[in-house]
Amino acid sequence: MALKFSNKTRPKEVFVDDKLNILWADGTHSRYDFYPLRCLCVCAACVHEVTGEKLLDEAKIPKDIRPLASEYVGNYALGITWSDQHSTGLYTFKRLREDIPFEEGTRVN
Ligand SMILES: [Zn+2]
Repeated sequence: MALKFSNKTRPKEVFVDDKLNILWADGTHSRYDFYPLRCLCVCAACVHEVTGEKLLDEAKIPKDIRPLASEYVGNYALGITWSDQHSTGLYTFKRLREDIPFEEGTRVN
């Protein structure tokens, strides 16, 4: 069961193994599959900013997609550069905790 997001919920560490892992400040360890996470990108290239229409063609995303790099965007989101050359991937911490499915990991902080 996912814990609810609060404004104090921040990642402490992000790393990649066979999934994208986020260790949160509250001790939760979230593990995200790459392909669904890539499909859920809501940057301006993937989702129309005004209409909300999905512009991304999921069929064009390689099934072996993986993140090449990640960085914090302000203090509210994670930016991900993907192996399909998509470098504007944007995932707010709130979405990562509340809307995007993840598996809970067991790594001890
Ligand atoms: Zn995008």
